[in-house]
Amino acid sequence: MNIVLLGAPGAGKGTQAAKIIEAYGLPHISTGDILRAAVTNRSLLGLEAKRFMDAGELVPDSIVVGLVKERLSQPDTGKGFILDGFPRTKAQAEVLDSELASVGKTIDSAVAVIVDPEVIVGRLTARRSCRQCGRITSVSEGLSCTACGGALYQRDDDNEATVRNRLSVYEKSTAPLIDYYQAKGLLHEIDGDRPVDTVWADVRAALGA
Ligand code: AMP
Repeated sequence: MNIVLLGAPGAGKGTQAAKIIEAYGLPHISTGDILRAAVTNRSLLGLEAKRFMDAGELVPDSIVVGLVKERLSQPDTGKGFILDGFPRTKAQAEVLDSELASVGKTIDSAVAVIVDPEVIVGRLTARRSCRQCGRITSVSEGLSCTACGGALYQRDDDNEATVRNRLSVYEKSTAPLIDYYQAKGLLHEIDGDRPVDTVWADVRAALGA
């Protein structure tokens, strides 16, 4: 099963992706995670991507598309994958479709997690991640991860100004993909402003499990 997860930054795509991975054992392809790893490794590509990420802008396709193609060519994607954070523009969706078509594949489902933008600003500015285990939590947890004791940190692009810019980039460039996948009959819209497990029950039902 080849799945695209859509939704604004902070809508809960990463959390639902983790549930899908657990239930279906599919590899998770998050372009944000791939780009952040490139930044941490201080690769040339990462350094170039960082200034766009810090401003909340989209990283150019000349960087992102190659990374996704490379990842999709790895053997673990043979039984399916979850794309999280890609595609983010109609041009990326079209490249993805033609890349998959060239190897006889298609996207089977697009799950859009919908949350009100003001709820997202509150969620993202309070979001913290664990440096050690990668768990995502909130500022209310304090300075250390309750699961592993690692240090909690705030992502560089989770400050309010950058969050607002990311949301406007989403509205302009990414939200039109909802119509794109609707027209293909692949779209499942899910209300993401509910408890994680309630959202997950709907995602699971949408995926037919
Ligand atoms: P995310 O973790 O998905 O919120 O992504 C963090 C940042 O990485 C975004 O704000 C963009 O700067 C960049 N990014 C992630 N995915 C893409 C993509 N498909 N196209 C362009 N930029 C991306």
